[in-house]
Amino acid sequence: MTNFLATKAMFDLPEGKIYLDGNSLGAFPKAATKRMTQTLEQEWGELLITGWNKAGWMEQPTKIGDRIAKLIGAETGHVVMGDTLSIKVYQALASALEMRPDRKIILSDNGNFPTDLYMAEGLIHSLGLQHQLKTVDPTDVVNHITDDVAVVMLTQVDYRTGRLHDMKAITKQAHDAGALVIWDLAHSAGALPVHVAACNADFAVGCTYKYLNGGPGAPAFIYVAPRHADTVRPALSGWLGHAAPFAFDLNYTAGNGIERMRVGTPPILQLAALESALDVWDMADINDVRAKSIELTNRFIAGVEAACPMLALASPRDGKMRGSQVSFKFEHGYAAIQALIARGVIGDFRAPDIMRFGFTPLYIDENDVDRAIAIIADVMQNSLWNRDEYKTQSRVT
Ligand SMILES: *Cc1c(COP(=O)(O)O)cnc(C)c1O
Repeated sequence: MTNFLATKAMFDLPEGKIYLDGNSLGAFPKAATKRMTQTLEQEWGELLITGWNKAGWMEQPTKIGDRIAKLIGAETGHVVMGDTLSIKVYQALASALEMRPDRKIILSDNGNFPTDLYMAEGLIHSLGLQHQLKTVDPTDVVNHITDDVAVVMLTQVDYRTGRLHDMKAITKQAHDAGALVIWDLAHSAGALPVHVAACNADFAVGCTYKYLNGGPGAPAFIYVAPRHADTVRPALSGWLGHAAPFAFDLNYTAGNGIERMRVGTPPILQLAALESALDVWDMADINDVRAKSIELTNRFIAGVEAACPMLALASPRDGKMRGSQVSFKFEHGYAAIQALIARGVIGDFRAPDIMRFGFTPLYIDENDVDRAIAIIADVMQNSLWNRDEYKTQSRVT
């Protein structure tokens, strides 16, 4: 059984704040300071360029990829770190489309995070092969998996509502129709048990600064199923995905398996922070995290609904059907979130009217949930959000 008091003690949380936004940017693991300082002073400072060999920097993307693999049910040796999630979406989609040259449809849903859709649009334009991005309602995806679909590209947990797709069933249905499947695990990795191999996913991608606490700008990951790993063509054929980067050959030869999904120089400082964040998982079982997350979110929904009839639940009521977040609809959601932040409850706002709260059992407990409910009740019942200072939108909402 995971000791959540012990995991909470591994994070540096600001006094007086209840942090319900770990779904956007995970909290700060205390060990990151020591680990990063070591990388800065003993590795970069003393080893300089020899750090690539002596400190194992070059292996970090696959070594940390193996730790991510455990959390998402992937085979060892088939996950690699690097770049941002937007880039990894592009890579997965480009490779997948090439594997289905006779099909033109990319199927996604309108609850997908826009960058995934934007990357698809950009890729379609660059390819110039008349591909078409089709976005349907999340509940309607299963009705559009037809035999002209090349790739089904979905995010397992809807970033606004927290609604979960059935990864296994959709993957099977897509394969039966001859399509490939890319799963974006941005709001899944570290939030709930995921089984990419058991689900037969073709590709999976995700970020590490949300539920994996790797810090702002932490690198993304990509998984390619072993059955495709040695045949997919990497669209972003950078030198570090080459079979022999230091042969400085003028022509590109793809590296072994997942190595080919590397692009350029890995972000060693960010990887150091991420590595220390992943140490928390040596003490935590993702099944315990999931069970606790359902408990906390149920408790939050019950408390907020009892106190705030003006908020409409936008997340599935059944805990098994939602990720680790709870969203409410409220017309003045932006101002309400600002008023909450001013009172120490940190959630976020997603246009047009969603107030979103993330739950991370590694460092959020029942007491935090109860305190948050009391503050939300005060803000909503007394319309404390209705002040000009809460209505000016910042760049990041
Ligand atoms: C958070 C998130 C992203 C962010 O992409 P970056 O390139 O890391 O900024 C992309 N896709 C989904 C589904 C997300 O939830």
